[in-house]
Amino acid sequence: MLLVFLFGYSEASKRVAVEGYRYWSSEGYTRVVINLNDQIEFTQNRISNPDRLYFDLKNCILSKDVTPSVSIGDGILKKMRVGQFDNGTVRVVLDLQKFERFNVVVFKNPYRLVIDVFSEKGVEPVPDTKQEGKISEIKRVVIDPGHGGNDPGAIGPRGLMEKDVVLDVAKKLGALLKDKYNMEVIFTRDRDVFIPLEERTAIANSKKADFFISIHANASRRKAARGIETYILNWTTDEESMRVAARENNLSLAKMKKVQGELQMILDDLERDNKKGESMKLAYNVQNLMISSLTQDYNQVIDLGVKQALFYVLVRAEMPSVLVEISFLSNREEEKLLSQNKYRDKIAEAIANGVGAYATPPKLAKKPSDNI
Ligand SMILES: [Zn+2]
Repeated sequence: MLLVFLFGYSEASKRVAVEGYRYWSSEGYTRVVINLNDQIEFTQNRISNPDRLYFDLKNCILSKDVTPSVSIGDGILKKMRVGQFDNGTVRVVLDLQKFERFNVVVFKNPYRLVIDVFSEKGVEPVPDTKQEGKISEIKRVVIDPGHGGNDPGAIGPRGLMEKDVVLDVAKKLGALLKDKYNMEVIFTRDRDVFIPLEERTAIANSKKADFFISIHANASRRKAARGIETYILNWTTDEESMRVAARENNLSLAKMKKVQGELQMILDDLERDNKKGESMKLAYNVQNLMISSLTQDYNQVIDLGVKQALFYVLVRAEMPSVLVEISFLSNREEEKLLSQNKYRDKIAEAIANGVGAYATPPKLAKKPSDNI
């Protein structure tokens, strides 16, 4: 099997640096990420004796400080090796232990190759979370405050930064889920630090979380835009939703439109294993509870609804997962609200109640409708 993927050309004279790699093990698959300083062309191959996958990255040079091999031994991959195969080719080899299939996607800005290798177990459908008797189990939730470190996210007209607001709301949410709903809470970050988007999902998968909640604050070029919306991962034709995903993925709108086509296979996965339906239920619970509780104290709460778009941070999350945009930092009034402790408390409480309502079905706030 030889497949060639073209993701654009680089000048022949200038080689692309392969700057390093990272990997995360979860139950169903191992995620390997190769960091690059520009777009590349590559080929991929599987060969046996011993069973391995290899990727030839064209017109590339391996940075000097990259470790040539690492033992993984997680039941899916034995080992990973990387080397300068010839003058212009860097070869990445994954020695397989238990293999069913693999997918490669390219995340952009910065460029990185995200290789997910699935074991046989990884293709089993997600168990039905509606079954009785699960309610008393302790649920594990991964809370993901967006951005951080040198990535401030959206910045309001008065200078309030998304990374700070969402971290605070995330901590409040975590405390509530622990105290009120007896959940186990894990944060992708609990301080002002940068974490790549693909790592956030990998954290949730490796911790075998029951839910994944990514928290963000919105921004729009229309200063009057305001309101609250909750997203799930899916393909979209809606320009505004695409704009939001582009901003959260750190891409231009034009690039975002291209990315949708390239990530089609991920969406096929999504259809197959029922995560979309569960994510949608979680999204409706969170969105509805946010709107109903905020309207008690604030008279101008706009319900932008449950929407879908292609967020890198939700790609291949193995559990119901949503991304919440908790108001618009670009709107003066909402920036002011987001700067207030009381509003942040209220939002955290509302999200917690939404997650709680999803986790304990009898308390469902509203039935999900199909009209998104
Ligand atoms: Zn954001």
